[in-house]
Formats: sequence, structure tokens, C-alpha cells
Amino acid sequence: QEFGEISIKDIDQVAKTSFPLCMRHLLEKVKEDHHLKHGGRMQLGLFLKGVGLKLDDALAFWKAEFAPKVSAERFDKEYAYNIRHNYGREGKRTDYTPYSCQKIISVTPGIGDHHGCPYRHFSEENLRAALVRMGVSSRAVEDVMDKVHNRHYQLACTLTFEAVHGSSCDAGINHPNQYFIDSQRVLQS
Ligand code: SF4
Repeated sequence: QEFGEISIKDIDQVAKTSFPLCMRHLLEKVKEDHHLKHGGRMQLGLFLKGVGLKLDDALAFWKAEFAPKVSAERFDKEYAYNIRHNYGREGKRTDYTPYSCQKIISVTPGIGDHHGCPYRHFSEENLRAALVRMGVSSRAVEDVMDKVHNRHYQLACTLTFEAVHGSSCDAGINHPNQYFIDSQRVLQS
């Protein structure tokens, strides 16, 4: 279920308009820290693959983001294998699919991890601030928080989608890549 192709130079732009909060957060963190732990690399890396980032671009993306902290040599040795693996080019050659919301919501991020679902794993304060940064109105923030308090995390994400796109999402959000595709549909219509 792919939506065309994107190249590295498009990532920031489409992230701003069409990435769900979980992926915006991971992208922000990798740009800030020039590193992401394994869980974050898997969650964001497979999502980007689903969005249409080709293997060569994925390798170049991670290498460039890690460059301030990780030498090219160390990158090739320690990180490139896993990225190729996610694209089915190493090991059992399984083509790994991006994680669903259910899977992301059910993880338990450790200290220093940035993967997971912000609606479930952020503190209330951080979540509210993140929603405001996404441009969600204060009224809609309260509706989102209401869902969060009732542990309806995917509904909270759906309400966020509707608030930032000004368009309804009747099917509800159940996959980060579906969020992306639905967003692109709204923006291109
Ligand atoms: Fe990401 Fe799904 Fe959580 Fe939305 S509900 S932030 S798409 S994991």
C-alpha cells in the first residue's frame, strides 16, 4: 500500500503536512540528536519505506542525519545492514512491513527511546504542546485529550487528523502510513 515515491529533499515538507505525530516526533528527534535507538529507527525507517523512500535514499538519509555523531565508516559497519535488512536485501530477505498503530501503541519505550505512540506514551503536558505545534486549535486539543483520557489513542489521532486537515476521516486512523495516504489525498484534492 504505497503512495508513489518520495526523495530525501521532500521529507521535511511532507512531514510537516502529512506525517502523524509519532513520525513527526521521531524525525524531529533524529534531527536534534543525530541518533535514534533501534526501536525508533525501525518505526520511522519502515514508515519511510512505506511512504516511498527507496533503499539508496534511506541509506543516504540516515547516514546524513547521523553524520555529526557517527562516522561514515562506523555507519556502514553498524547501521547500513539493518536498513538493507528492512528492505529485504539481507538475512532472510523478508520485505518488512511498516508497523500498525496497534503495534506501536502496544510497545513500552525505555529511557531515551522516542518510538511509540505520543497519544499513549507522552506526558499530558508534552502531548498538549505537540498538538499546539501541529496547529490544532485549543478546542480540538480538549477533544483529543478527552479521547486520550479514555485510552482511545487512535481516535485521538483521528481527531488530530481532522483538526489539521479540516476534513473528516470516517474510517479512523489505524496505520501511520494510512494517515499519510489519507493526508496526501486531502491535500491533492
Ligand atoms: Fe502514530 Fe497511530 Fe499513534 Fe497516530 S495513533 S500517532 S498514527 S501510532
